[in-house]
Amino acid sequence: MEKYLDLKNTIDYSKLKFAGEIIKNGGLVLFPTETVYGIGANGLDENAVKKIYMAKGRKQDNPLILHISDFNMLSKIAKNISEIEYTLIKAFWPGPFTIILNRTDIVPDIVTAGLDTVGVRMPSGNIAKELISYAGVPIAAPSANISGRPSGTNISDIFQELSDKVDYIIDGGECEVGLESTVVRVIDGIPNILRPGKISPEDIQKTVGTVKVDDHILKNIKMDEKVLSPGMKYRHYAPKSKCILVYSPNNQKMIEKVREISKGYHNPLIISCNENANCYDVRNKIMYGSKENLREIAQNIFKDLRKVDEFEPDIVIIEGVKSEGIGLAIMNRLIRACEYHYIKV
Ligand code: AMP
Ligand code: MG
Repeated sequence: MEKYLDLKNTIDYSKLKFAGEIIKNGGLVLFPTETVYGIGANGLDENAVKKIYMAKGRKQDNPLILHISDFNMLSKIAKNISEIEYTLIKAFWPGPFTIILNRTDIVPDIVTAGLDTVGVRMPSGNIAKELISYAGVPIAAPSANISGRPSGTNISDIFQELSDKVDYIIDGGECEVGLESTVVRVIDGIPNILRPGKISPEDIQKTVGTVKVDDHILKNIKMDEKVLSPGMKYRHYAPKSKCILVYSPNNQKMIEKVREISKGYHNPLIISCNENANCYDVRNKIMYGSKENLREIAQNIFKDLRKVDEFEPDIVIIEGVKSEGIGLAIMNRLIRACEYHYIKV
């Protein structure tokens, strides 16, 4: 059986019917969404969902998001949705926005890691939407990567680590956003951001007049600490090499600090914005995009983190960005990639 479907340059989505059948029948499918690639299974089939955890090596206490293509599916898996939750859903769906809702009994425990809530998202990417429609069931899909590694934003980055573990692969080219969805849970009428993404605190504030950014987003979390979202605790996005994140609102100060750190090493790799790259006199550099275009940086960052180890650096120094808009999501991923080695000057 040919297990690779190339949809990079076509809008003939009828070919997704076959992939939809695979999902319905308990198989695993790698597929693109507008955020990152997902590794998907029938979200109502316990045995199928188990395969996702096995393929990724994901901890069983870290719940999965259910992806839906219409509101019919929503009413099957979630209940007691409040007015403010509906307002958020209407504003940000379809799109890179996940909301934690009270779950119904048909959602298997394995999806929610035993919690009485379920994360739900309606993606806007055409391939994802059509795939879910053909499957006719919500698709449980975490990011496509072995747990702890950077999320996959194109097929060639994840082919080696995942192709043997799935039944079917859909190639839709590069993901548009490049970072996983914003995860929100409404508590006492206030939307709490548990994981930042393209939909920013500012966007949510504008829509419902209030927002809270969870304290843990830019902080280290101890394994025994109680958190609202289990995924916050785990090592994530990290290359094998030692990485350090440096940021200053003053660009010159940031450059000086990066230079100073790099001098203490034999083979430093510097990941910086395009504008600053010339300021560094080191052999190995990666430019993640223009500092004037945080969307571009978001789209590139996982791909760049995957390249790091090839340089065999003794240190990777990464420039941070302003934690505003999608910048908060970029910093959240970078701090974790650096395992909380973060210097702010
Ligand atoms: P991933 O699909 O790998 O991008 O990760 C999904 C994220 O959503 C993880 O951080 C999970 O911990 C979080 N999540 C999923 N379901 C829930 C839930 N019911 N309550 C809190 N967080 C959740
Ligand atoms: Mg993930």
